[in-house]
Amino acid sequence: MAVYRQNRDREGAADAPQQADLDRCVHCGLCLNACPTYRELHLEMDSPRGRIYQMVQVANGAPIADSYVEHIELCLACRGCETACPSGVKYGRLVEAARAEIEQRIERPLGTRLLRKLVFEHFLPSRGNLRLAGTTLLLYQASGLQKLVRVSGVLRLMGRLREIEALSPRVETPFFFRQMGRVFPAQGERKYRVAFLGGCIANFCFARLNEATVRVLQANGCEVTVPEGQTCCGALHVHAGLRDAARRLARRNIDAMIDQSFDAIITNAAGCGSTLKEYDELLEHDPRYADRAGRFVALMKDVTEFLASIELNPAMGEVRATVTYQDSCHLAHGQRIRSAPRELLNRVPGLKFKEMALSDLCCGSAGIYNVAHTDMAMALLEKKMESVNATAAGRIVTANPGCILQLRAGVERHGRSQRVSHVVEILDEAYRAVG
Ligand code: SF4
Ligand code: SF4
Repeated sequence: MAVYRQNRDREGAADAPQQADLDRCVHCGLCLNACPTYRELHLEMDSPRGRIYQMVQVANGAPIADSYVEHIELCLACRGCETACPSGVKYGRLVEAARAEIEQRIERPLGTRLLRKLVFEHFLPSRGNLRLAGTTLLLYQASGLQKLVRVSGVLRLMGRLREIEALSPRVETPFFFRQMGRVFPAQGERKYRVAFLGGCIANFCFARLNEATVRVLQANGCEVTVPEGQTCCGALHVHAGLRDAARRLARRNIDAMIDQSFDAIITNAAGCGSTLKEYDELLEHDPRYADRAGRFVALMKDVTEFLASIELNPAMGEVRATVTYQDSCHLAHGQRIRSAPRELLNRVPGLKFKEMALSDLCCGSAGIYNVAHTDMAMALLEKKMESVNATAAGRIVTANPGCILQLRAGVERHGRSQRVSHVVEILDEAYRAVG
């Protein structure tokens, strides 16, 4: 169990759950059944209501105990409770603020601090370091070293590292970084000018998905710019309580895009989109950026949301498959987008759609949650795969790269060789199938 030191120097944190947000909770418990960690553990302190109760205690002066940190960190920030809550509790905002307060008021052990600094300050925001990490992972995978390590049994001796290694994404070459700064013309008449955000890790793990997204947008009359100055969206930073670091990234993304008169700014990652659409909250106290952040948010669209809002190019060939759809939490609960991906899938000729039970219950991916809380993530994944298998669909479709990785791991462990794809990859197949 981790032991955290209270950081006395930094009390009075600026980011902390707001009393007005806490007061909205009437403790009715209607959110409990929507909460994956409560469904798994049946512990009040690992339910939304229990976590809010603990936040209230801290707001009233209780110290930040180790147990508080653990209950808050075990939350997936999936926001399923937010959808279920009849009182409009903004739970996502509360848990992000609680994590920010924890970050400001406690001191983590040295090793954790160094690791977090490396990942959040030197890796995710740096294109050079991301490229280096992608190349290193590629060498590990392509040289045969990964196979050797996996069959040698050495990972069994390294505890959780085995599980984490199994979740490592497959590197895709060439990386999407090479498209930064490029402008892709619309197919046919140009109807829209859009900017596309390629993400951070997605540049080397989902390079083909990013290319498919650009192609589908082009096929729908979009001139697609991949702005050179873009960077990581900061979603992982926000989830980890590092709001100042997220603010720095938000300003960079706003500067890279806001003055170029785009009709929309597009992401294919629901987890990123949810944070990108909240840049206005993140920067509300920044007099130089508050207005620019508001304009940025007004343009921000998930790719499924954008495509469902325009007249979709119907020139699609058949995709003969039965698919089921997993709602990405940050699309369904964070952005309240449920029908757009389903509508798009239903437009694809030849495709059969089968709804799965509990499609909006978290699969356990949740950013880097599956790495930090592997046991809980895997328990949730097993249940998710039961729902998937019950549909007998041959393909699982979702709207977030993190969910794709998690579901691929689910197929390996509990599946029936299902293929896992993003909604835009299905559309791309359909457009490419036209003779
Ligand atoms: S968060 Fe909402 S649903 Fe849950 S206990 Fe509070 S008021 Fe009820
Ligand atoms: S965000 Fe998800 S895991 Fe966290 S309390 Fe709400 S439903 Fe439970």
